[in-house]
Amino acid sequence: MVRGFTRRFDPERPRDAAAEQQDAHLPPPTVPIPRAPSGSALVLPGGRPHSLYHCRHDCDVLIADSHLTELCAQDPRIHVAKIDTLRSCEDRVACPLCLPTETDYTKIKRCSVTTPTGPREALLTLWRRAPDSTWHAVVMYTLNSRLTAHPHPATSLNPLPTRR
Ligand SMILES: [Zn+2]
Repeated sequence: MVRGFTRRFDPERPRDAAAEQQDAHLPPPTVPIPRAPSGSALVLPGGRPHSLYHCRHDCDVLIADSHLTELCAQDPRIHVAKIDTLRSCEDRVACPLCLPTETDYTKIKRCSVTTPTGPREALLTLWRRAPDSTWHAVVMYTLNSRLTAHPHPATSLNPLPTRR
C-alpha cells in the first residue's frame, strides 16, 4: 500500500513520532499532472465503478488516485477532456473535493477507514484493482482539520456503524 510520506519538520530538532504520524502529505506523483484549460477537466481513466474528473491539477484526490494507478500497475496518464463531454458520460463523476457542487453524491459512498490515529469517517470515491487481485480505494477524510485523500486497501475500509 502507499504510505503517507513522512518528513522531518525541522532537521535541527529531534524527530516527533506523533507529529510524523499525523503528517499525511503524499509525495508528488511520478507522472506530471497537466493543467486543465478553461472548459476542460482532468480524468484518470480506469477507476471502478467510475473515474473522477477534476478541475484542479493539484487536487488531493487526483494525486492520491495517481499514486493508486501506479500501485495497481495501471496507466497513470491523465487525460484532458471537454467538461461537457465528461458530464454526459455515465462512468465519469465530478470530484467531490475540487468540484463539490457538481459531484453526484449517490455515487460517492460513505465508509469508515482505519488510519494510524484510529477509525475515521470517509468518502469512498473510486476503486482500482491491483495485479494481485486486491482492491484499493481512494478515500477522502478530514485530517488536522483539512480534507485530504489517500489510497487505502479494501481491508482497511468498513461500513459505517449504524447510528441509533
Ligand atoms: Zn479533484
